[in-house]
Amino acid sequence: GVPIALHIFFFQTVASPPSSNFLLLGPSGAGKTAFTTLLEAKSSLASNKSHSTHTSQQSTLVTVALPPTVPTGSNRYRSVNDPSLKEAIRNPIKYRIKDTPGHGKLRASQGISELQTMSQSKDIKTKLRGMIFMVDTAALVDEATLRDTATYLHDVLLFLQKRAKNGSSSKRTTEVPVLIAANKQDLFTALPPGAVKENLEAEIDRIRKSKTKGLLDASADTGLEDEEEILGNDEQEAFSFKLLEHEVGVKVDVVGGAVKGDLQEEFGSGVRRWEEWVGMCL
Ligand code: GDP
Repeated sequence: GVPIALHIFFFQTVASPPSSNFLLLGPSGAGKTAFTTLLEAKSSLASNKSHSTHTSQQSTLVTVALPPTVPTGSNRYRSVNDPSLKEAIRNPIKYRIKDTPGHGKLRASQGISELQTMSQSKDIKTKLRGMIFMVDTAALVDEATLRDTATYLHDVLLFLQKRAKNGSSSKRTTEVPVLIAANKQDLFTALPPGAVKENLEAEIDRIRKSKTKGLLDASADTGLEDEEEILGNDEQEAFSFKLLEHEVGVKVDVVGGAVKGDLQEEFGSGVRRWEEWVGMCL
């Protein structure tokens, strides 16, 4: 028969094609490059390859492995004795993560267009499973940074809302879940995830209000009906991620973590809870 080693090799390369794609967005300096580099280093895959260096000017697509002990959506209640855990150790689940640059001018063109391309793909190999929006929770105390971050997030979520609306006729489009990775929780100046969520919601609410007001002024001038959509639809209610989920079906989770620093006790390995979120999408 086939030698065992060859068998295992074949199984590992063929049995789990990296068909689940995640897009990583967020402002510059949030820690996206550090995160993808860490995931690559953690993956056993990385040991076979020469280490790639990332620049923050270009999108990079890397294939990484989910730690075997992280349960997946299709395998939620995996216990230590579960045979599927052994299988996961032997043949780790892989996924692909695309890091995009976050610089002011570049991000609108690259980040959103990347989202557009990936989310429209019908090919199972390039289909978008989830979106990770990374923020620097220590930098968010600064008002300008908060506004900048919330504007970017608003635009991304509005894109997903429009996509959800257009796709509702065909059952094939599934909503892309969003993880707000509240990074740098190791810094003592960092806002806790709950506050990050509240601040982003409040800021997005302000952005929505000023957009509606701008539209009203514009339509008063021109007499045109405003056709621009409002994020979360219901403009009477204050914006919240819950409203977005309720109105549009796009689910947003805010989860704390840290790419750098020692957070063993509070956050597992610092990025563990984000990997658990990824696992739930698989
Ligand atoms: P990007 O622009 O989003 O790709 O951000 P980078 O990955 O280049 O990270 C920006 C800076 O933040 C770098 O100096 C990282 O070392 C640092 N950094 C990233 N994650 C963390 C973290 O969890 N804690 C701390 N303290 N620093 C971090």
